[in-house]
Amino acid sequence: MTPEDDAGPPPGAVPHGWQRPGAEPAWAQGWWQGADRWCASPNHGIRPPGMALELAVIHSISLPPGQYGGLDVPALFLNRLDTGAHPYYAGLVGLEVSAHFWIRRDGEIWQFVDVRRRAWHAGRSSWRGRENCNDYSVGIELEGLEGERFERGQYQALVPLLQALRSRWGIAALSGHEHVAPGRKQDPGPGFDWTALQQALRPSAAVCAAGERLPWDFPGEGPVALGGTTASA
Ligand SMILES: [Zn+2]
Repeated sequence: MTPEDDAGPPPGAVPHGWQRPGAEPAWAQGWWQGADRWCASPNHGIRPPGMALELAVIHSISLPPGQYGGLDVPALFLNRLDTGAHPYYAGLVGLEVSAHFWIRRDGEIWQFVDVRRRAWHAGRSSWRGRENCNDYSVGIELEGLEGERFERGQYQALVPLLQALRSRWGIAALSGHEHVAPGRKQDPGPGFDWTALQQALRPSAAVCAAGERLPWDFPGEGPVALGGTTASA
């Protein structure tokens, strides 16, 4: 990696739903041009050589917990959080974390880490017997609180992001942080509607008619056949 690899935002910001008909989603190296904002976090590292991206880990976060619309989550990811600003933040002193993406309550998407780089979101984790999910996953944080519901606009933002991650990087599996770090993490929690997400990602009628399998692998199960049961969180 050269310094330019992490130089930050690509030019030409466009709305996150943008995609030319029939065109691949736009990426500038590992930065998605469908994001609304780019803020390069210093918290990242190299992925193991040759490691393919396989998994998107869904998280939830808000700072202070349960308060939405502020800028303390980006501040945390940028190591600029004023840890004296709230009693809860005393436990965050010195914490160096990041996620590739953060989706606010209104559906605005921020990107903090180049997808080609390893962000620090999952911690000690295991997916299907493989440790260290950060090595082969992309981390997506939703502004929210575990156990609470998420906004329609967040799902609407998540779908094209996931489709772009699959199209460009081959990521076809989804998991919650709670699933890869059971007992240690509870996000995004029972308020996240995996069934709604699965339905939103359902391929077009033409693809269904062709009898193809859904290309998404949801928590707790392998790839879901069309007409199969819905995913469980
Ligand atoms: Zn998490």
